[in-house]
Amino acid sequence: MKDEYRKILTEFLGKCWHEQGNKSRFNPWNQTQTFICAKCDACINRRPFDSWQDLGDLKRKLEGKKQWATFLKSAFESDLDADGNAIEDLDESARSDGEKFYNPDFIGWLLNPKSFCQLVADYLKMKP
Ligand SMILES: [Zn+2]
Repeated sequence: MKDEYRKILTEFLGKCWHEQGNKSRFNPWNQTQTFICAKCDACINRRPFDSWQDLGDLKRKLEGKKQWATFLKSAFESDLDADGNAIEDLDESARSDGEKFYNPDFIGWLLNPKSFCQLVADYLKMKP
């Protein structure tokens, strides 16, 4: 996922999108030097947004903000797979009569953490 989208999702979750300053801190666990965020003073560690934890946190946040239904509507209208490519075997008739939503392939795709996170990012980016 592009940083642009990871930033949108990080801030949607109410977290800092860390920015590198010139301070760093030594981590004795893995013997590495880690840069410190110039805004919040935490170690710079950005979420990848590809895990079940990410999916769960984003779903809970959407529900908390009463955006779950509008998000799902936008996801149903999307036809991109987890890599951002158009799903080719999705025909318009299936989409229009609602069969798409009850299709195991579609539900499997929606419940893939990587595609789910991208769908949320796309939804948040499109929102006015
Ligand atoms: Zn920060």
